[in-house]
Amino acid sequence: MCSGRVDLEFVLRAFSNGMDGVFIGGCRLNECNYITHGNYHALNMVLLCRKIMEHIGLNPERLRIEFMSSGEGNIFVDVMNDFGKKVKALGPLGTSEEIDGVELKSKLEEVTKLIPYIKIVEREKLESRLETEEEYDGLFTSEEIDKLFSEVPSYYIDPDKCQACMICLRKCPAEAISGGKNQIHVIDQDKCIKCATCFEACPPRFGAVKEISGEPVPPPIPEEKRTIARKSKEK
Ligand code: SF4
Ligand code: SF4
Repeated sequence: MCSGRVDLEFVLRAFSNGMDGVFIGGCRLNECNYITHGNYHALNMVLLCRKIMEHIGLNPERLRIEFMSSGEGNIFVDVMNDFGKKVKALGPLGTSEEIDGVELKSKLEEVTKLIPYIKIVEREKLESRLETEEEYDGLFTSEEIDKLFSEVPSYYIDPDKCQACMICLRKCPAEAISGGKNQIHVIDQDKCIKCATCFEACPPRFGAVKEISGEPVPPPIPEEKRTIARKSKEK
């Protein structure tokens, strides 16, 4: 399959499952048969993932991407031998980084949960096709990734504004919203993957979904107070 199909989630899942290194092989850059040039997408994803690995304390050398044609078996052998030696020298995941296994798993789970948010914020860069190695070196910076994680927003439904139209509930990809007919809707913060779909979907005339950053999310309205009392229409 195309290297462009290798999602950030696949890489993080491999590490979550205890892989010590991940290698992605793609076709040579600028030799893609399709206008999509998926190998550039793979390269951008790897550069982003390496910065994320640094952010959570993992050695980015554990992730490598190389481009070669199917006729370059010799290059493939050299690269794999070299990568194998490197990963062996680094040891089991988390060892050389001195991160406890439980802590590492929870960090990887936290990042995996934020993939939709990360992809939205970094969308333009993930789709870019740069010319030089220098440009690629600066595509993602450590400061930018630290900021990305420090500014993760939360989404909250204002109980005074929610009209229980159920649009957000139907569109939420994580089943993080509970509610029903005439019931004020509530977001389960543990299930929310910060995709902003509810924020975009809530009709502007209601404007009930708030994006919150840098402050705690108000507690959910108690269940017994969620029923909306509607005035019956006078004849
Ligand atoms: S941001 Fe909204 S739509 Fe997206 S997962 Fe969270 S609650 Fe669901
Ligand atoms: S879309 Fe807005 S008004 Fe409709 S249920 Fe969701 S939060 Fe409430």
